[in-house]
Amino acid sequence: MDDFAQLRQRLEQERAALAEQSADREDAVRPVALDQSRVGRLSRMDAMQMQAMAEAAQRRRRERLRRIAAALQRIAAGEYGACLSCEEPIAAKRLESDPALTLCIACAASGD
Ligand SMILES: [Zn+2]
Repeated sequence: MDDFAQLRQRLEQERAALAEQSADREDAVRPVALDQSRVGRLSRMDAMQMQAMAEAAQRRRRERLRRIAAALQRIAAGEYGACLSCEEPIAAKRLESDPALTLCIACAASGD
């Protein structure tokens, strides 16, 4: 009865993996300690750059988690697999390549 059982499983697995990664990296996004005595100017800039990269990665993970949660919600609501723009069915191949996709190929190509 559940056509999307496999895709849902993939979404749930990816969500679990992302949640785990986010927990692992919490340390990396804490503010850089400005310990002047031990950290020279260059290494402090390195640390700040690494922090910026960690924050960007964290943002991407959060955005991905948001998309996954939305896809799981659409599955639960029986709305999954329809393009959010034109409501035509999204090709199965497209959903297999990324189960969190929300647009059919025509709408994705038109840049919405
Ligand atoms: Zn569409």
